[in-house]
Amino acid sequence: MDKNFTLTVLPGDGIGPEVMKEVRKVMKWLEDKRGFHFTLHEDDIGGAAYDRYGMPLADETLEKCKASHAVIMGSVGGPKWDNVDYNKRPEAGLLRLRKEMGLFANLRPALVFDALVEASSLKPEIVKGLDILIVRELTGGVYFGEPRGIEDLGNGQRRGVNTQVYETYEIERVGRVAFDLARKRKNKVTSCEKANVMESGKLWREDITALHQAEASDVTLEHMYADNCAMQLLRNPSQFDVIVTDNLFGDILSDEASMLTGSLGMLPSASLGTAGKPGVYEPVHGSAPDIAGQGKANPLATILSFAMALRYSLDCGVEASEIENAVQRVLNKGIRTLDIANNQGCAISTSAMGDALIIELNA
Ligand code: NAD
Repeated sequence: MDKNFTLTVLPGDGIGPEVMKEVRKVMKWLEDKRGFHFTLHEDDIGGAAYDRYGMPLADETLEKCKASHAVIMGSVGGPKWDNVDYNKRPEAGLLRLRKEMGLFANLRPALVFDALVEASSLKPEIVKGLDILIVRELTGGVYFGEPRGIEDLGNGQRRGVNTQVYETYEIERVGRVAFDLARKRKNKVTSCEKANVMESGKLWREDITALHQAEASDVTLEHMYADNCAMQLLRNPSQFDVIVTDNLFGDILSDEASMLTGSLGMLPSASLGTAGKPGVYEPVHGSAPDIAGQGKANPLATILSFAMALRYSLDCGVEASEIENAVQRVLNKGIRTLDIANNQGCAISTSAMGDALIIELNA
C-alpha cells in the first residue's frame, strides 16, 4: 500500500505548538518503522496567523489544507487577541476552515481508558470499557439558520430569533457518515432529535429512517429524543455505539459524553466532509493559556486526533490502533501528565509523555 501522504500541520496558539511537537515524534516513528512518507506543510492558524498575516486563516493556508490528505491542528485563542475585531479573532479562523472545507460531520469519541476510569465523574462500573462515538452535524441547524437576530419591538421589549432548519440532503449526508462508522464498530446508530415537539426533528427522524431502509438496513437503528439521550448518557452510557444528532443537540451531548471520560487532555476529534476530501483533526481542548510554554500540557488528545486522521482520512486503521493501544499501555504503567495525575509530584512533562509513547510503540 502506498503510504505517501501530504499533511497540513497547524499548531496554532498556546499549548498547540508544544503538543504538536509530540505528534511529530509519532509521524517520524511511522516513517522510520512503518514505511510512511509524510510531506508536511506547516502553517499558522488563529492568533499566530493574525500576527503573521493579519487574519486568523490566510487564503494560502486554506489552499494548502484543501490540497492535503488531512489537516492536523493544535488549538487557537488566548488573551493576547481578546481585543481583536470579532471577525479576525483566532476562533474565526477555525470557523472559516470548517466552512470552506465543507466539514459537515464532527466526530467525537468518548472512550474511557481502563487506567483512567477513576477520573470519570460517574461510578467506575458504569463507565468501564465505555466507547461511544458522537457524530454531530456541523454546518446547519439553528447556529446558521435564517432569520436570526435581535429585534427591537419598540415597547421596551426586544425579540431574539434563531431558526432551526434542516434540508433532507443535510440529514442524509451526516446520517450516511454515522451508518458507515457504525459498520466499523458495533453496528448500531442512535439518532437523536425532538420529533415530539419540532418539525425539523420530525423531518430528521423520517429522513434517517428512509436512509436506513434504502442504504443501511444492515445497521441497527434506534431513535431517541435528545433529552432522553442526555439522561441515558448518565444512566447507562454503554447502551450506545454511534449517536448521530444535529448541531445544537450534538454540541451539548458531545460535551456531556466527553466528560464521562474525565480529562480534557485525552479527548480527540475529527471533522469530516464529503468522502475522499481532507478532514480536520484536532483535540477537543483549547489553547490552555494558563499552562502554555511550561511543558505541562498533555499531548495525548492531539496524538489521538492524529490517530483518527490515520483511520478516517488515510485509511490506515492498523497503525491508528497501534497508537491507541500504545496510549493505553502508557496509561496502564501509571505514566501521567499533570492533568491526569493522581499524585501531582509524579507528573511528567509534555515531551516526556511523547517519549514514553514512542518507547511503548517500539516495545
Ligand atoms: P482550555 O481547553 O484551553 O482549558 C481549560 C482547562 O483545561 C485549563 O485549565 C487548561 O490548563 C486545561 N487543559 C486544556 N488542555 C489541556 C491539556 N492538553 N493538558 C493539560 N491541561 C489542559 O479552555 P479555555 O481555558 O476555556 O480556553 C482557552 C482558550 O482556548 C480561549 O481563547 C478559547 O477560546 C480557546 N479554545 C479553543 C478551542 C479550539 O482551538 N478548538 C477550543 C476551546 C477553547
